[in-house]
Amino acid sequence: MSLELEMWEKRAASARPASQLYIDGAFVDAASGETFEDISPRDQHLITNVASGDTEDVNRAVTAATESFDSGVWREMNPRDKKSVMLKWAELVRANQEELALLETLDVGKPISDSLNVDVMGAARTIQWYGEAIDKTYDEIAPAPRDALAMITREPLGVIGAVVPWNYPMIISAWKIAPALAMGNSVILKPAEQSPLSALLLARLATEAGLPDGVLNVVTGLGLKAGQALARHNDVAKLAFTGSGPTGRKMLQYAAESNMKQVALELGGKSAQVVLDDVVDLDAAASAIAWGIYYNAGQTCNAGSRLIVQGGVKEELFSRITKFLETFKVGDPLDPETLMGPLVSIQQRDRVNSYLALVNQEGGRFVFGGSQATAADCVIRPTLIDEVKHESRLAQEEIFGPVLVAIDAKDEAEAIARANDTEYGLAASVWTGNVARAHRVARQLRAGTVWVNTFDMSDVITPFGGFKGSGAGRDRSLHALDNYSALKTTWIDFN
Ligand code: NAD
Repeated sequence: MSLELEMWEKRAASARPASQLYIDGAFVDAASGETFEDISPRDQHLITNVASGDTEDVNRAVTAATESFDSGVWREMNPRDKKSVMLKWAELVRANQEELALLETLDVGKPISDSLNVDVMGAARTIQWYGEAIDKTYDEIAPAPRDALAMITREPLGVIGAVVPWNYPMIISAWKIAPALAMGNSVILKPAEQSPLSALLLARLATEAGLPDGVLNVVTGLGLKAGQALARHNDVAKLAFTGSGPTGRKMLQYAAESNMKQVALELGGKSAQVVLDDVVDLDAAASAIAWGIYYNAGQTCNAGSRLIVQGGVKEELFSRITKFLETFKVGDPLDPETLMGPLVSIQQRDRVNSYLALVNQEGGRFVFGGSQATAADCVIRPTLIDEVKHESRLAQEEIFGPVLVAIDAKDEAEAIARANDTEYGLAASVWTGNVARAHRVARQLRAGTVWVNTFDMSDVITPFGGFKGSGAGRDRSLHALDNYSALKTTWIDFN
């Protein structure tokens, strides 16, 4: 065992994470006193029992958030001072990098090196980026007649409910909280039940940075209880949701049945990685394709889970992906050398296992991988299935595991048609050496993000979200500020 692994194991064994709700700047138990078990997919051990919030707790959090909003303590703070709080918060996130990363790895099973370098640093960068935007965002003056002044100002919406999934708990939370706070709103975050711990520490650090009490609250709990209560609350102005399509539908229903709150949906995907026969650098394509699907064990909404490839390059591409994977270490997420850890839970493993079993019914040929995980083991090895029929479930449904399916395309037109023929539209990539062709294909791919000769280049500077069944919301970039504000006209007559 390496010294570093030993160090992380010791830290894991002595970790005592906060596990209560965070309301109005303080940790409190759920009103019912109920808790749920937070189990680590690393070894199925109980990390801690976490407060299971319900309607009464959501009511408490909404009251705290509403009072903080109405008082103007944050909303009306001088932008320069608000910015300082956000920058201090980002600094504290970086200063607590190891503790946050450990919680994320224990909860989700993602490799500790990713938690440290991608998740914590991505969250800190997002908070800093929106903090810096606070005193650089201007309002507008409309071209009204000379005897009037017509101002268009952005106004915060009020109380924002953010319901997030478990696959990138900290980053996705930051994508919602940071622009919402930058616009002066108050927020209630409902993390996924599989990954509640980093959210609680993030919120405490926000208070330490100077965020007034009640402006950021965290209600941990089950989706059907805490999540539903938040989505149905009449005093929540907007619900920012990331998760699965079926839950997204429920969010729209809850909003319709309560106060018609705004709903932003970031949902699933079945993103295509299109390789055309004039691809120039097959090694670069092979490693990007492998990272595109196997990163985070395939539990990424924009995972490049369909490989649409022109026949001429297919066999050579397969052999280079296979070679790339020879050094791809799969295993213990606390080992800094590990590149891919276990799936998030036994349920998720069983779901992926059931897709692997579909090969017997629908057809398909395992190029590598394919064995189902058993017993208490949540690790499924990287898998590539060739000869998958385009209309089959394997090719159409989001598996959310390390499973890449290959679909043939005879030419460019068929590759585009197949890439677009799915209910989703989150992301896609195209590999070609012809710049005109790259533009032509990129324009025709119906996806919120299209990469050319790369995959998953991603940063807070660009919007992220989907078309069609992948939802209509957009996180990240200055455009996300529009999600958390409403335009207001003030017309002043001079006569
Ligand atoms: P999920 O929909 O089961 O859960 C997401 C969140 O919703 C969790 O906090 C959960 O507790 C809550 N929830 C569940 N049922 C609820 C209900 N009835 N009422 C209120 N809240 C409820 O999704 P998941 O399994 O946690 O995450 C995986 C899904 O998220 C995948 O489909 C993935 O593609 C998607 N995702 C999308 C993006 C994106 O930006 N487009 C990013 C990450 C994940």
